[in-house]
Amino acid sequence: MPKQDFAMSRDANCIFCKIVAKEISAAVIHEDSAVVSFLDIGPLAEGHLLVIPRDHYGRLTDVSPDVCARIGSVLPVLGRALLTVTGASAFNALCNEGQAAGQLVSHVHFHLIPRRSGDALGYRWNAGTYAEGRAAELAAAYQRALAQHH
Ligand code: 5GP
Ligand code: ZN
Repeated sequence: MPKQDFAMSRDANCIFCKIVAKEISAAVIHEDSAVVSFLDIGPLAEGHLLVIPRDHYGRLTDVSPDVCARIGSVLPVLGRALLTVTGASAFNALCNEGQAAGQLVSHVHFHLIPRRSGDALGYRWNAGTYAEGRAAELAAAYQRALAQHH
């Protein structure tokens, strides 16, 4: 077991915490003191990976900056391995954050989904537009919110 740099936290009912603790099996492809990556059991394409913090965090908004940095630091290397292993030309790296966004397992996770041009997965959402002045209003609201949160 790799050395644990961070305070351990787990949720007794969480399937991904059980994978981290090796209480249920998964096809683990990478683990270090902060991060575990394994094959998604319901792949959208062969080689579909999940990347999770070892600690239990329900929401991305709760993840500590250190752990978030550790997750981010493995994404390029896992992405390169995914391209090599699957022969895909691209991948989607995404996090479904919250139920309305499609999050089913409430232990933060990033999906790395192999993509090929012309595959059947699709990834086109209908983009909107901003009325005159609305983007500036929103940018100001974001700046105020960020000033409060830091
Ligand atoms: P979400 O919709 O929460 O973003 O995605 C959860 C993902 O976890 C799904 O793609 C699902 O296939 C995967 N998953 C759920 N349970 C297990 C499991 O026990 N083992 C593995 N390897 N993947 C799981
Ligand atoms: Zn968990």
